[in-house]
Amino acid sequence: MAAKTAKTAQAETAADELKPCECAAYDALPADLTDADIETGDFEVLTTGCTATTKRQFAPGHDAKLKSALIRWGSLGLDIRRTDEGGVATSASADKHAARYAFAHMVTAGVKRAEAKAAEKARKAEERAARKAAPKAPKKVTAKVGRATVTGHMDGDHFVYEVKGKERRTLKFQAA
Ligand SMILES: [Zn+2]
Repeated sequence: MAAKTAKTAQAETAADELKPCECAAYDALPADLTDADIETGDFEVLTTGCTATTKRQFAPGHDAKLKSALIRWGSLGLDIRRTDEGGVATSASADKHAARYAFAHMVTAGVKRAEAKAAEKARKAEERAARKAAPKAPKKVTAKVGRATVTGHMDGDHFVYEVKGKERRTLKFQAA
């Protein structure tokens, strides 16, 4: 009796078509793959890591999983692919892939936000590098040269200062 019940349940499941979760159809490759990379297989393929099967389009919570994956991959500029039931992989932008789902606008906004954030980060790093590369203004030093007290800076052992716009350097000075 019990066996018969199990068999019936199985039949019902089959009718409902338990199929791979939609998010598992996606993966992402580096956008700048060369033929050599492909030949050696020396590149990383990102996936959602999903092995779930479901009667619905997504396993529970996996629409959110796919949404964040598309945002992440999209903002990294990766080549995002969807492999259909026939095994045909199609590359498209995160936006385009997302267009078929209810969360499409969230992917568009999320990628934009992530890109703006990355641009801001790059800008700040550039600024930092520029500051580092820029010659530091020499530290001001006030010293007595003869009877005059002047402000200048040190250059090695020399005290360098200006008189009427002309640079002078001397070893004969006294720190004031
Ligand atoms: Zn999934």
